[in-house]
Amino acid sequence: VDRVNRSKNTKFLVLDDGFVQVDGVLYSDADVTRIARITALKAGKTKFRDDRDLLAYFLREKHASPFGFPTINLLIRCPFPIREQWFRHRTGHRAEILVESTDPIPSQFSEQQQFSGRYAPYNDGYNIPTDEYLLKPSSTNNQTSSEEKVEDTEGARNLIISLVQSADATYRSLIGKYGLARERARWVVPMAAYTEFYFQQNLWNVLDWLTKRRSAHAQKEIVAYAKVIEQIVKEYFPLTYEAWIEVVEGVTLTRTELHELRAILESNAIAITPKLEKRLYGTG
Ligand SMILES: Cc1cc2nc3c(=O)[nH]c(=O)nc-3n(C[C@H](O)[C@H](O)[C@H](O)COP(=O)(O)OP(=O)(O)OC[C@H]3O[C@@H](n4cnc5c(N)ncnc54)[C@H](O)[C@@H]3O)c2cc1C
Repeated sequence: VDRVNRSKNTKFLVLDDGFVQVDGVLYSDADVTRIARITALKAGKTKFRDDRDLLAYFLREKHASPFGFPTINLLIRCPFPIREQWFRHRTGHRAEILVESTDPIPSQFSEQQQFSGRYAPYNDGYNIPTDEYLLKPSSTNNQTSSEEKVEDTEGARNLIISLVQSADATYRSLIGKYGLARERARWVVPMAAYTEFYFQQNLWNVLDWLTKRRSAHAQKEIVAYAKVIEQIVKEYFPLTYEAWIEVVEGVTLTRTELHELRAILESNAIAITPKLEKRLYGTG
């Protein structure tokens, strides 16, 4: 993960010209465990299970509340199709840099405001895929790419560049030469355009976002952003991260699969630990 300058404004660089910037983080692991133990603390309990085990237990059993208190605020710069995927997540608050607003101060955001290109012209650059993104389709999943590059990566990239340049020139000409309103001229802005937005989620929802967007089924570009956000979670919430990895890299079995597994263990008289027995026979 590349980054420029540490601190609140640390920018993690993604793709050819995108980034994730930490705008603010509220709370830490210690607050999650404190909140998780509030009842026990009130009752005067002094001996507790290990923090990491407690967090893993809460994550596994979907006791979400303690993870709902920490908040991560990010500033994202990404191409439009990735922003579309991002905004499908209903559990985030978002606000874009160039808002659909008559307010001359573009720093007043609410979760309803959308990037529109009405307030100011697009002037934010375009994502031109590098070779590692110029891939053939997957043969097993209709949505994704394979790892195999197209034969002529340079030719494909040049075609993208020539379309982007022509669209950009058309957009500027519609505004400059023809005097067309920005809200209509944006019709010709290509999907490769970069956009920036703030995105806020609580820790529980960040982990849910991560689970879905670091997956092998997700688009390679958003996976690149997910890898960065995973590092941010690891840095700010190391215990929760460790507990989450423990849970997310496990599997959930259906009832039929569980019965099959029990049958295999029993018919082969395979000994298992008391802890695993508790999990497999539903007593823990
Ligand atoms: C790999 C991948 C492929 C995808 N492919 C497609 C596709 O082909 N076509 C397509 O249209 N979309 C696709 N999506 C988008 C997907 O359908 C969801 O829109 C996206 O994942 C965001 O929704 P979410 O429930 O995951 O997250 P969030 O909206 O952040 O919600 C998180 C969780 O909160 C709860 N929640 C949030 N809002 C509600 C609500 N209103 N009611 C009940 N529970 C709620 C649910 O438990 C939910 O899972 C894809 C997503 C992924 C990760």
